[in-house]
Amino acid sequence: TFAQLVQAQKMEAVGRLASGVAHDFGNVLAVAGGYVRSGLHSGNEARMRESLQGVDTAVNRANLLTRRLLSLVRVEEGVEEWFDPGEALKALMPMIRQLMGPGVKVDVTVADDLPPLFFDRMQFDLLVLNVAANADHAMPDGGGFSLRARRDNDRLVLDLADTGVGMEGDVLVHAFEPFFTTKPRGQGSGLGLSVVRDLVQRAGGSVNAESQLGRGTTISLRFADALAELAEVETEER
Ligand code: ADP
Repeated sequence: TFAQLVQAQKMEAVGRLASGVAHDFGNVLAVAGGYVRSGLHSGNEARMRESLQGVDTAVNRANLLTRRLLSLVRVEEGVEEWFDPGEALKALMPMIRQLMGPGVKVDVTVADDLPPLFFDRMQFDLLVLNVAANADHAMPDGGGFSLRARRDNDRLVLDLADTGVGMEGDVLVHAFEPFFTTKPRGQGSGLGLSVVRDLVQRAGGSVNAESQLGRGTTISLRFADALAELAEVETEER
């Protein structure tokens, strides 16, 4: 859980760094533009060559900046292991409660027939905490947060629902995009949901969001059927 806090702080830092990199990128473009203009207006070949060299340097610098940005956003490789998701969720309960404002009622239902999960344990916790944190932000005056873990055709499904402010259609459309946020500057990185979707999809699952303005939001995480995938790999190996 210390690791989770570190990860959460890292994501905030990424957001701040991203705006810094975007700013640097603008500066590099301005420099390149200046060289292009002076090159265009000089009749002298040596001057023109000098200008092109300047553009080249600026382009290299821009490349470096984009690479730095990409390496920040890329989520580190997970270490998958088998575990009981019901147990993992129960262990997370105190953290979820801590995360929620005092006026939020928390309700957790864990079915007793959940399939085992093959996933990075820390990333699993991170997914749930990310969605829970959003739910809390959506309920500044309190409300209800419910987490339901169920089995659907050998797949684990988590439904995380809040009775918060909900999302307008055009927010819902963009909510999973990296760096999309409606939160005030410095409060949202816009990375929470994009990381959630990225992690679940990369493990063969899918994420769905339903939202009604003024009513609330439900985020559903559908995990891959890890046992079936394991069987498939074994058949292929034979
Ligand atoms: P961040 O939380 O940093 O803004 P996210 O990617 O987690 O980044 O969320 C993006 C946006 O989606 C939020 O700024 C908010 O507008 C919207 N959103 C996410 N979860 C909820 C929710 N439970 N209720 C209402 N809006 C939400």
